[in-house]
Amino acid sequence: KSKVLLELQKNIEGSVVSYPKKMPIALKRAKGSIVEDVDGNQFIDFFGGCGVLNVGHSNAFVMEYVKEQQEELVHALDFPTENKLFLIQKILNNLPEEIREDYKVSFGGPTGSDAVEAAIKLAKIKTGRDGIIAFSGGYHGMTSGALAVTSDTFFRKKISSLIPNVHFVPYSYCYRCPFNKEESTCNYDCANHFEWILETGHSGITLPAAIILEPIQGEGGNIVPRKGFLERIVKIANKHGVIVIFDEIQSGFYRTGKFLEFMNTKAVPDIITFSKGFGGIGFPISGLIYKRDIEAWETAEHIGTFRGNQVSIAAARGAFDFIEKYKIEDYANFIGDYLKEELNLLALDHPFIGEVRGRGMMIGVEFVKNKTSKKPFPEYLKEFRTECFHRGLLFEVGGHYNNVLRLVPPLITTKEIVDAAIIIMKEAFVVCEE
Ligand code: PMP
Repeated sequence: KSKVLLELQKNIEGSVVSYPKKMPIALKRAKGSIVEDVDGNQFIDFFGGCGVLNVGHSNAFVMEYVKEQQEELVHALDFPTENKLFLIQKILNNLPEEIREDYKVSFGGPTGSDAVEAAIKLAKIKTGRDGIIAFSGGYHGMTSGALAVTSDTFFRKKISSLIPNVHFVPYSYCYRCPFNKEESTCNYDCANHFEWILETGHSGITLPAAIILEPIQGEGGNIVPRKGFLERIVKIANKHGVIVIFDEIQSGFYRTGKFLEFMNTKAVPDIITFSKGFGGIGFPISGLIYKRDIEAWETAEHIGTFRGNQVSIAAARGAFDFIEKYKIEDYANFIGDYLKEELNLLALDHPFIGEVRGRGMMIGVEFVKNKTSKKPFPEYLKEFRTECFHRGLLFEVGGHYNNVLRLVPPLITTKEIVDAAIIIMKEAFVVCEE
C-alpha cells in the first residue's frame, strides 16, 4: 500500500520532497515514539518529526487541551485571549528568574522560518543597520530572509536575490576545527574571527544589525559548540551593539534538558526564535522571546493571519504542563545520556563512527572513512539508514557533509525503545559491513 500511495502522490504532489525508492513509507498513525505505516509496519521514530514531537506523537495529556480548545475557539487572529496570555506567562516563567522580567514574547506565524524572518526584521529596525552575520552549517529556514542566513548552497544556488549583506563565519565545530587546532591548543579562533570582523576596519563588512546562530547546530549535524564559545560571541556582539539572535527552533523546548539550550550556558541572547516542539504534538506555532529594550515595532508593523491559532497555543500549554508534571526536564537528560552511552559502545566496535556527540535528546553520530583521517563517509551512512529503515528505525541524516546520523527522538522515549533501536543499528552494521 505504501508503494502504491507513493507512486500516486509522486505524480500529483507539486513539491520537491523526495521519496527515496528504497524507503517507501506512507504514514497512517503514530503514538509516543512509534509510527505506523499504511501496511501496519511499525517504526521507532528517532526522526521525531524533525525535532518536533518532544512529548511524543498524539500525547493523550496534550490532546485533552487540544480537544477542549477546538470546541471553543480555533482562530483568533491577533485578538487577545486568556489562552494566549497564559502561554506567554508560561514561557516567561520558564526563563531563568534573574532575567525573566527583561523579556517579552511575540508570535511569528506557523513556521520556524516566520520566526527567523521576524527576528531579522526586528534587529534591522532596532539598529537601523542592514548586515547579518550567520554561521557555516547553520540552518534557519527556506523563506528569503531565513534562507539568506542558511549556509548550505544546495538550497540557494539558483536564487540570486535573497536579502543582502549576509556574511558567514565559522562555527565552533571542534571535531573538524575550521582553524585546524587541537583541543589543547584551541584559543577560540572562531570567536576571535568574529571579533576581527567587527574590529579590523578592513574586513569589508560594516557593522551588522545582528548575529544569528543555533546554540547547538541541528541540521548542521547536532554540533555542540565548545564550552565558552557562545559566551564569547555574546560578549563581542554586546560590545559592538550587535543584536544576538539564538535560533532555538530545534534546540528549544526541553530537547537538551533545559527549557532552552542557552540556559545550559552563561550566554544570554537578545532574541530567541522558537517553533517545532512548542506545538506539543505537532501543531504549528512559532515566535520570538526578546528583550524589552530592543522593542522597535510600531503598532501593527509586523502582522500575520495565523499568529493566533488557539489550538496550537493550547497544545503548547498542554506540553508545558506535561513536561512539568512528569519531570521530563530530568528524564530528557537521563534517556539522552543512556542513548549516547549505547552509541559510544557501538563506536568502539565500528571503525566508521568518528564521533558521538550531543546534549539531552539531540544527538549526532558522525560517519567517517576512518577515525584518523576523519574523511566524511556519507555513502555508508545512506546505506546504513536504508538498512535501519527496513528493520524499523527512522532517523534523519544531516551535517556539513551529509555524514551525520541525526537523532532527535521524542523526549519520552523509554529505555526499552532505545535498546530496540540499538539492536537494529547493530544488525544494520553487520549487513553494511558484509
Ligand atoms: N531554524 C532551525 C534551527 C531549524 O532546525 C528549522 C527547521 N529544521 C528552521 C529554523 C525552519 O523551520 P521551518 O521548517 O518550520 O520553517
